Formats: sequence, structure tokens, C-alpha cells
Amino acid sequence: TVCVVASYAVGLSMAVDRFPRPGETRIGHGFVQGPGGKGSNQAIQAARLGARVELVACVGDDAYGREALDLWCREGISTEHVVQVGDHPTGVGFILVDESGQNSIAIDPGANDALGPRMIDAAQGAFDRSAVCLVQLEISLESAAHALRKAKEAGCITVLNPAPARRIPDEVWGYVDVITPNEGEAAVVLGEEGNEENLGKLLLERVNLAAVVTLGEKGALVLEKSGAVQRVPAFPVPTRDTTGAGDAFSGALGLRLAQGSDVVEAARWGAAAGALTCTVPGVVPALPDRKALLRLLSG
Ligand code: ADP
Repeated sequence: TVCVVASYAVGLSMAVDRFPRPGETRIGHGFVQGPGGKGSNQAIQAARLGARVELVACVGDDAYGREALDLWCREGISTEHVVQVGDHPTGVGFILVDESGQNSIAIDPGANDALGPRMIDAAQGAFDRSAVCLVQLEISLESAAHALRKAKEAGCITVLNPAPARRIPDEVWGYVDVITPNEGEAAVVLGEEGNEENLGKLLLERVNLAAVVTLGEKGALVLEKSGAVQRVPAFPVPTRDTTGAGDAFSGALGLRLAQGSDVVEAARWGAAAGALTCTVPGVVPALPDRKALLRLLSG
């Protein structure tokens, strides 16, 4: 089992010729709405690849919250530890994309902010049953740290995908087994600049097992406590939309670690899932299933 201490948000997006000025209303087009949140995406990825997944998350007592529960149910994800709260709306993000492809985004985390230490404590059973626990930083740093500690104490391999990146306090590192930042996130997490190898080494000093730095179309760099440093190449694919590649990577890596594979093999699955996610627009519709992933892995 993989447990995911997760964020959830609905993304509402439309295209505009240019961004509206303060006080201006502009007519847009191409409105689309879809489920997101890094934790939810990673949980769905792990489930599509065959993991039993337990979600620890918080949504509002509203239509979007019910849609989220329906989605997780369809994906076969256990929602025993998902709480619907009455005093916060389900998380949403408003996304405008202009003609040049730039985006402008505002997020209300809503119920994600209500996922606190007490709700995490109540999910003890999920930690006890899981081999791997995935955590991201779209919930409060305090809650993420608490979840990592609980999961570690319950015997899980803990995987932190530090996105959106924030500096990680010293006392949290002891509860992180594997960290999976992209290159930009690696620098922010450490509060230092450097090339991927140097950042990877600094991360490795802080975690218990391995640092995995994802490098987009350059694949990923895996550094392990044994001293081994390996590059996992990207799978060449026709790219349409790279959104969600990092979530696919962490979800697939978590699943493989739970199945007992080593970090390099898990990162290979991550790279394959990330690549396939780039071939389809959107995120949830793009996350591959087991059959598609095995086809890519076997070349
Ligand atoms: P994020 O989405 O968090 O910025 P990356 O862009 O590093 O993360 O993508 C995660 C992983 O997905 C990469 O390590 C790589 O294996 C795979 N990936 C990303 N972009 C591509 C691409 N254009 N072609 C093939 N694989 C890709």
C-alpha cells in the first residue's frame, strides 16, 4: 500500500488574448475545468499502476468536494481518511493563459489548509498499513512535517516531493528517506545555487536514502547513500503538454518502492510515467496505466 498525504484543487482555466488590467473585464474562450493538486495526481498515478492507495486529504462540503470523492472512488483509491470540512471550500485555482502561452494563476488552498496534525494523527491506520508514504508541500509545512514523522515512525519509506518549493527546516530532514525535486526546487529547498550534481549531493547529505533530481527532458539524477550516482535517461516521446510530469514521476516511483524495487529502478518507472504524461494534454487524463507504462519500458 502507498499512502499519500495530499492536496486537492480544481483547476479552472481559460484562454485570453491578453491578461485583463485592474478593473477590466475581458472575454476569454476555451474554458476547461479539471481535477488537480499534486498529492491527488500522485495518488491517481500510483493507483493506475496497480498500487493500493490510501489518501489522507481534506476537501470542502461542496460540489467540488463530492466530485473529488467520486474521482478517487473511480480510481479505486481508499478515501477512509479523506475529511469533508464545512468551514472551508474545496481548493481551487484560476488559470488564465494568454496568446503567447504565458499563464497567470491564483490559488485558494481552501480545505487543504484545514488538513492539520490532528487529522493526520487520525490516519494512523493508513501509515501502519503502508510501505511508502508520499508527501508534497501544497499543505502547510507543519502538516507535511508531521505526516513525514508519523509515516517514518510507522515504518514507511517516506518520499517528499518538495513542490511548491520551500526551504525545509533542519529538524524535518531526519524524517525524509527519498526526496524528488526538479532542479529549480532543489535549489530553493536548500537555499543554495549550484549545478544538478552539487545540489543532489547536498540533498543526499540531508536525507536517509536517496536524492532524485528530475531534469525534464534530460531525465533524472539518482544519488544514493552507497555513494552511487546514476543518470536515468528520459524516454523520448512526442511532447504535447508537460504539466504533471513531476507528479507522474513521484507517483510511479512511490509505487515501485512499495513493490520493493531499488531507487534507480523506481526512478526508471518514474521517468516512463513522466514521459507518457507529456504525450497527452491535461494531467489526470494523461497519467498512464500499467499496460502503457510496461509497453514503454519494454521498448
Ligand atoms: P516537473 O514537472 O516537476 O517540473 P520534470 O519536468 O523534471 O518535473 O519532469 C519529471 C520527469 O518526467 C523527468 O525526470 C523526465 O523523466 C520526465 N519528463 C519530463 N519532461 C519530459 C519530456 N519532454 N520528454 C520525456 N520525458 C520527460
